[in-house]
Amino acid sequence: MSSIEFSTLKLKPALLQNLDSIGYTAMTPIQEQSLPHILSGKDVIAQGKTGSGKTAAFVLGMLEKLNVKRFRIQALVLCPTRELADQVAQEVRTLARTIHNIKVLTLCGGTPLGPQIGSLEHGAHIIVGTPGRIEDHINRKTLNLEYVETLVLDEADRMLEMGFQDALDAIIDQMPAQRQTMLFSATFPKKIESIAQRIMTDPEMVQVTSTH
Ligand code: ADP
Ligand code: MG
Repeated sequence: MSSIEFSTLKLKPALLQNLDSIGYTAMTPIQEQSLPHILSGKDVIAQGKTGSGKTAAFVLGMLEKLNVKRFRIQALVLCPTRELADQVAQEVRTLARTIHNIKVLTLCGGTPLGPQIGSLEHGAHIIVGTPGRIEDHINRKTLNLEYVETLVLDEADRMLEMGFQDALDAIIDQMPAQRQTMLFSATFPKKIESIAQRIMTDPEMVQVTSTH
C-alpha cells in the first residue's frame, strides 16, 4: 500500500497544483519508484502491468524539464498504436493544464499527412506518435528531432512485437545522443534488453508487480 504524496517530489508548483486539482494525491507504486530517478535525469526502464500509472510517471518527468519559452520539439513519446498515442496525448494535456501555451502534437498513421505537415510547420513542444508515421516524417524532412531532450518508448514490448524495430532505430538515429531515455513495458523479453542496451545509458531498472 503506497501513500507517498506527489508533493514530496521536486516538481514545479504549477504541476503540483494541477495534480491536486485532478485528484492525483498519492503516487502509485511505479510512480513512487520511478519518479525520483526520472526527475534526477537518469535513463529508466520501468516494468509494470497495465493500469499501474506509467503514463503519469514519464509525462511528469517530461513536463518538469520542459521549457515552454523554447518553442521546439523537446520530447518525443513513441507508442505502438494510435489509440494508445491518443490516450498518452490526453494525459499530457491533463497533466499540463497549468502550463500555458504548451503545444502537444499527435502523429500517427491512418491519418492524412497533409494536416500533420501543416501542424509541424506551426511547431510543437511535445510529439506523441507511432513509429511508422514518425519515421515517415523524418524521411520527408518534415520533422526535426535535433532538440529532443527526452525520449519515451511506451509499451516497448508491443512496439517490438508489431515489428517496429527498424523504425525505432531510424528514429533514434536522428536524435541527440545526449538525452534522457525512458522505456516502459508490461513485460521484459530479451528483445527489450538488447534494445535498452543500445539506446540507453546506465539505466535504472524499476519493476512493480502490484498496482496499488
Ligand atoms: P499504465 O500506462 O501503467 O497502463 P495509466 O498510466 O494509463 O497506466 O494509468 C491508469 C489510470 O490510473 C489512468 O486512468 C490514470 O488517470 C490513473 N492514475 C495514474 N496515476 C494516478 C495517481 N497517482 N492517482 C490517481 N490516479 C492515477
Ligand atoms: Mg500505458
